[in-house]
Amino acid sequence: MPDDSAAGATGFETKLDRLAALAVRVGLNLRPGQELVMTAPMDALPLVRRIAAHAYQAGATLVTPLLSDDEVALARYRHAAPDAFDTAPGWLFEGMAAAFRGGAARLAVVGDDPTLLSGQDPEKVARANRARSVAYRPALELITSFAINWNIVPSAGAGWARQVFPGVAEAEAVARLWDAIFMACRVDVADPVAEWARHNATLHARTAFLNGKNFSALHFRGPGTDLRVGLADGHLWAGGAEPAKNGITCNPNIPTEEVFTTPHKLRVEGVVRSTKPLAYQGTLIEDIAVRFEAGRIVEANASRGAEVLGKVLATDEGAARLGEVALVPHSSPISRSGLLFRNTLFDENAASHIALGQAYTTCLRDSAGVPMETLAQRGANASLIHIDWMIGSGEIELDGITQSDGVEPLMRGGEFVAGPR
Ligand code: ZN
Ligand code: ZN
Repeated sequence: MPDDSAAGATGFETKLDRLAALAVRVGLNLRPGQELVMTAPMDALPLVRRIAAHAYQAGATLVTPLLSDDEVALARYRHAAPDAFDTAPGWLFEGMAAAFRGGAARLAVVGDDPTLLSGQDPEKVARANRARSVAYRPALELITSFAINWNIVPSAGAGWARQVFPGVAEAEAVARLWDAIFMACRVDVADPVAEWARHNATLHARTAFLNGKNFSALHFRGPGTDLRVGLADGHLWAGGAEPAKNGITCNPNIPTEEVFTTPHKLRVEGVVRSTKPLAYQGTLIEDIAVRFEAGRIVEANASRGAEVLGKVLATDEGAARLGEVALVPHSSPISRSGLLFRNTLFDENAASHIALGQAYTTCLRDSAGVPMETLAQRGANASLIHIDWMIGSGEIELDGITQSDGVEPLMRGGEFVAGPR
């Protein structure tokens, strides 16, 4: 964090305040009378305090921050008994779910060191992650089903900054990561709220175009990739601001560049290679290469983190199938930054991607109130996990396959060649 006496500190404070305002006004679109439940790493406190101020100015009745700390997380791996790693704070997640059911909004400030747990026993990490996934499910379901307005917004943690700018002194790395965050989140302009209205309009035009096409499948081709992703019956493309089921239109991710939909869990065929490392709960998984048959991953390799990837795929029946496919032009501001953020919120918005695991049921027509078993028959996947990984690059070619098996070029060299640009 640049200190207040440093040159340019005023600019930094202004942008940090704009980011907080953007999270509350555009990200959450927080309504008067709503409670806000916010999770954040300890070193995001300056942003958390500004978010709280903007939330109360927007009419929040109560802001409840839940802070986490890297050293406390590591202490468990260093000192807890070997049988301690199947425990998760179910009481906390049940309370969060109760808050959401009672009308609270959800904000996650993220900025953790993506390699925090990479030196720890993968078995313990996997058990802890699984216990957490199971315990978090009641709250997560309210988020993935878009029952409430929610938002994820970044903060430049020191551990994260060191990963993005290796070899750079920590204070300088943090300052440069903040600059990259402000650019990617479009708060380095005079009126970020107006800028986001324009950006949302572009994304909405793109989803309208793709929904009009109603493709049966997408075909990705590139180095190491020849993948046909069947789309769920009655799939819907989404992107940018969307109305949650509580009636509040919000932007769940800041930044965001993607348009995304639900693949058919049984209709994915071929091979695909990741184009960026995947930061998964403290471990980096690099050069993922997998083969799909009838929607399921039947072969999986990675140059680093293969053991963790194997455990992820074994989480449950749906973990080796797709729950999301998303398109991002290679010219997105995040991609143009040339940085590898090692954080999914950023890297997924630098490149087209797919996600293992749980489908967003809102990406299906007429899905409100329909049980998951019925949506599964239309192709929607179910799993404890939802993990995005990047398959897009400047070398990717993408065709849309029509319902009558026609082929329409959608992207060449990673850029859209059809629909709104
Ligand atoms: Zn996505
Ligand atoms: Zn996703």
